[in-house]
Order: sequence, then structure tokens, then C-alpha cells
Amino acid sequence: MSKGKVWLVGAGPGDASLITVKGLHCIRRADVIIHDRLVNPDLLKQAEKNCLIIDVGKMPNHHPIPQDQINALLVKYAMAGQQVVRLKGGDPYVFGRGGEEAEQLAREGLTFEVVPGISSAIGGLAYAGIPVTHRNYSSSFHVVTGHLCQGNDPQNWHALAQIHGTLVILMGMTRLSEICQKLIEGGMSAQTPVAVVMYASQPRQRMVKGTLATIHLEVEREKIHAPALIVVGEVVNLQEVLAFAATPAAITTDEIHCENIE
Ligand code: SAH
Repeated sequence: MSKGKVWLVGAGPGDASLITVKGLHCIRRADVIIHDRLVNPDLLKQAEKNCLIIDVGKMPNHHPIPQDQINALLVKYAMAGQQVVRLKGGDPYVFGRGGEEAEQLAREGLTFEVVPGISSAIGGLAYAGIPVTHRNYSSSFHVVTGHLCQGNDPQNWHALAQIHGTLVILMGMTRLSEICQKLIEGGMSAQTPVAVVMYASQPRQRMVKGTLATIHLEVEREKIHAPALIVVGEVVNLQEVLAFAATPAAITTDEIHCENIE
């Protein structure tokens, strides 16, 4: 049997219509879809009726299917000649362990492709009315994880506090107060604006704003929790003017044709 192929597809931040044309085409052609928890279920409805759909979703602080088993599933179905879509929230190479999955496929000599997606770190913020850069307020942005790696903090918060750009923190909610404290200790003003955006780009999107000193109280009061984006910087002040009501576009059944994708 000839070997199949794996597409690592970014599903975007939540609004199903933010998937790319190529990503949607891959979903519609897949024999097997292996997806994460943050993927919009409406996208799965685009799959063929006999497509095998496997949920390997991880709840926060809980890993029902370990990464090596996800890698093994990708390999197993591709080896069996299937067209496999690995559907991941946002962009597959932004903190989704997509790099590790691709490495495994490369090690096994399997063919794969990456279909980039709109990362929540950029597109999710836009849906909350926050531009990640702005000529007058921020000339760089830094996307970091707040998650500890084997008990160790991978970030140098004091160094990040010195960079005058927008700081976007993913997977940081359980450590919000500690992170804000470290940024203040590193020299950032306690008055620096901070926003926390939950379920960005989804109908249930919610946001709170405050400062490095107060945001943890706002989050607690409004019961904001993961998945959420923490954004630190002057661009947060633009939110009042730039917030908009999103109108998701319907994904039609019109045929999309991409060359070379069977
Ligand atoms: N590859 C993804 C990120 C995976 S890490 C991307 O590019 O967006 C998972 C973290 O991303 C979550 O803990 C949360 O911090 C953030 N995240 C993803 N989707 C989100 C959404 N719709 N709203 C808020 N945060 C989101």
C-alpha cells in the first residue's frame, strides 16, 4: 500500500470562517482528521461523511492523549495510505507542538505539508479591537508562553519588561498575578495597560482591561479563564475606539479546488 500524507492545518482562532481556503479544502478531502479541543466543531462538519474524526483535545492541566500518542496516530494513518489532516487551533507552528509532530513525520520519512492559520495571538487580538502593533504606540510584538516547561519558567520576564513592544502571553492564565508582578519588578510601570481576551473571535468572546497592578482582580471579578490571551502594552488603549462587531461569513459548499491536493 502506498503511503499517505499528513497536512498540519491551522484552524484559526475560533470563528470557523477564519480558516484558509487551502485548510478548508484539506478538511473536505481528508480520510482522517485528528483535531484539538480549540478547533471550532463547525469545521468538522465540512468533512466527508465517512471521514474518521479523532478528538485528541487537551483540557487545561490535563493531557488525555499524550503527545507521543498523537504523533503515533499521525504516523499510523499516514503509513496506512490515508490522507490525514492534523487540525490545530490558530497556527500549527505557534505553541501547538506542531513542530514536534512534523519532526516525527520527517523521521518516519512521511510526506507532510503545513497549512498556516491565523494565530489567536494576532487575529484573536484584532477581534477584540486591539492592533498588535501601531505606529504611534508599539513597533514590535512578542508572543510568549506563560506555561512552565517541566517546572521551569522558560521566560526571562525581566528582559521582556525592557522591550517597548506589545507583549502577548498565551497559556498564562494560571500564573497571571505572578507574571504581572515579574514584569513590574523588571521595570515596567504598574500602570501599563493590560487586557485579557477569552474565547477570542467566538460568539462567547469576553474581555477585561486593567493595568499590571489590577488585571488579576478584574479577571477574578469577571470570572475570565482559559483559553485567553493576555496582552500588555499601550495598544490596549486603542480598544475603545477599534472594537467592532464581527459578522462571521458562512462557509458555503461551493467547490474549492487546490492543485495537487487529491
Ligand atoms: N496555535 C495556537 C496557540 C496554541 S496554545 C494559536 O496560534 O493561536 C493555546 C493557547 O492559545 C491558549 O491557552 C490561549 O492562551 C491561546 N488561545 C488560542 N485560541 C484562543 C482564543 N480563541 N481565545 C483566546 N485565547 C486563545
